[in-house]
Amino acid sequence: MKKPVEYIGAALMTVLLLGATACSGKAQSTQKQNPYYSRTDTKRLTVTNAEWKKVLSPELYAVAREGETEFAFTGKYYEYDVKGTYYCAACGNPLFRSTAKFSTTCGWPSFYEPLRANSVLYKEDNSHSMTRTEVLCGRCDAHLGHIFDDGPKPTGKRFCMNSISLDFEPDTQK
Ligand code: FE
Repeated sequence: MKKPVEYIGAALMTVLLLGATACSGKAQSTQKQNPYYSRTDTKRLTVTNAEWKKVLSPELYAVAREGETEFAFTGKYYEYDVKGTYYCAACGNPLFRSTAKFSTTCGWPSFYEPLRANSVLYKEDNSHSMTRTEVLCGRCDAHLGHIFDDGPKPTGKRFCMNSISLDFEPDTQK
């Protein structure tokens, strides 16, 4: 015969277990597993769009794989000034250092140079009746944004990026 306090304890445990199961299920449904994400693996990826669609959020897929552009002034890294490194949100490839970021009025996070020359790739883009140069991730070919010639010194370039294509990691305090 259990004492009342034992019944309460058992009931509480059941509620906690049910709660934990519900939470883990929710987390799995909203955070997809991405087996291609690595901040150290530099090997180029050749992954089909059908496969990317399974591992990226719909919002990131639309920009990274379909070349959509997020609305100006809406991205989380526009007017963001923290020291650290920006990685490709699709594959983890290191792309930019915060030291190359500069403030602009264009509405998107902008950098004057990539972290390494091969961090990004370039491709002519003739969409929307314009001739622009598209900037892609050097590891996974994700669409990041475009490059323009109105940036500050020392390069004069403006890498105009979509925030959603970027994954930021702040420097650790030493
Ligand atoms: Fe990438």
